Amino acid sequence: YVAKRNKGGYAVYDASYDTHQQEHLSLLSEIRQAVEGHQLRVYYQPKVGLLSGVVEGVEALLRWEHPRRGFVSPGDFIPFAEHTGYIKVLTRWVLEQAIRQCGQWRSNGMPLQVSVNISARDLLNRELPDLIVQLLDRYGTPASLLCLEITESGFMEDPAHSQRVLERLHELGVVLSIDDYGTGYSSLSYVARLPVDELKIDRSFVKQMSDSTTATIVRSTIELGHSLGLKVVAEGVEDEADLRTLRVYGCDQAQGYFMSRPLPAKELEEWLKHSPW
Ligand code: C2E
Ligand code: CA
Ligand code: CA
Ligand code: CA
Repeated sequence: YVAKRNKGGYAVYDASYDTHQQEHLSLLSEIRQAVEGHQLRVYYQPKVGLLSGVVEGVEALLRWEHPRRGFVSPGDFIPFAEHTGYIKVLTRWVLEQAIRQCGQWRSNGMPLQVSVNISARDLLNRELPDLIVQLLDRYGTPASLLCLEITESGFMEDPAHSQRVLERLHELGVVLSIDDYGTGYSSLSYVARLPVDELKIDRSFVKQMSDSTTATIVRSTIELGHSLGLKVVAEGVEDEADLRTLRVYGCDQAQGYFMSRPLPAKELEEWLKHSPW
């Protein structure tokens, strides 16, 4: 398959896969091998409460340790998996790992909420709510400790159908979050009609808060989110100044490299013992 290296050392797949049937099939079979050959990992990145000052939850992020290519970024293979429909298998796998880990942490006296990213394709899957019920049961994990992050564009693919799936999940007590907020085209009044609990402000805004217009957008988004009864989370917090600004603006949670990069479960547990949060 056509692969090159980017700055981060990740293997990047050629975006022209649509026209390369052969390569297409080969990447698909590699992703299958990744699942069967235990090359996938789930890393967890802490979400810190700005009022409580402690880690209140974590986001589960998929990692692929390719035997030859090294780490392959999810940004490179998730779109491909979505395109081929194989995302269904990946989502199922991540959900099982995250729900099991969450149940285990809770039994050990660490009730962390775990957020899992859900694709547009997953929201069209009628079996998703039943699958989640089964997994929560199997691992004794309360629904309120599971959060699903969806993007606005994901929802827009089939709003009526997605709305039904989301409502079912919400009735189960699963927490719902709008990811990458501000990058899509829908308005907050539109989002407010969905049964969501949380808004995640996209990191493209957070990283530009030194610009006064962007800072105003972030502050207004936090205020609007609150007036609609939503918890507001900022992602991509890379320095202390960002954290301070977000606290002043009344943001509820922050996530980013300043606190911690995504870590394997064991490393996160170690980090928690020594972190100020
Ligand atoms: P996302 O959901 O917006 O996840 C946040 C991304 O920002 C993650 O990249 C995370 O490592 C990165 N990040 C966290 N803090 C910082 C920071 O302070 N600065 C910067 N520059 N980046 C930060 P990652 O893990 O490479 O994931 C990329 C995207 O791949 C995710 O974006 C999500 O859309 C998708 N993805 C990852 N895991 C899964 C998964 O299990 N299922 C699905 N459907 N998508 C996933
Ligand atoms: Ca996310
Ligand atoms: Ca995001
Ligand atoms: Ca993103």
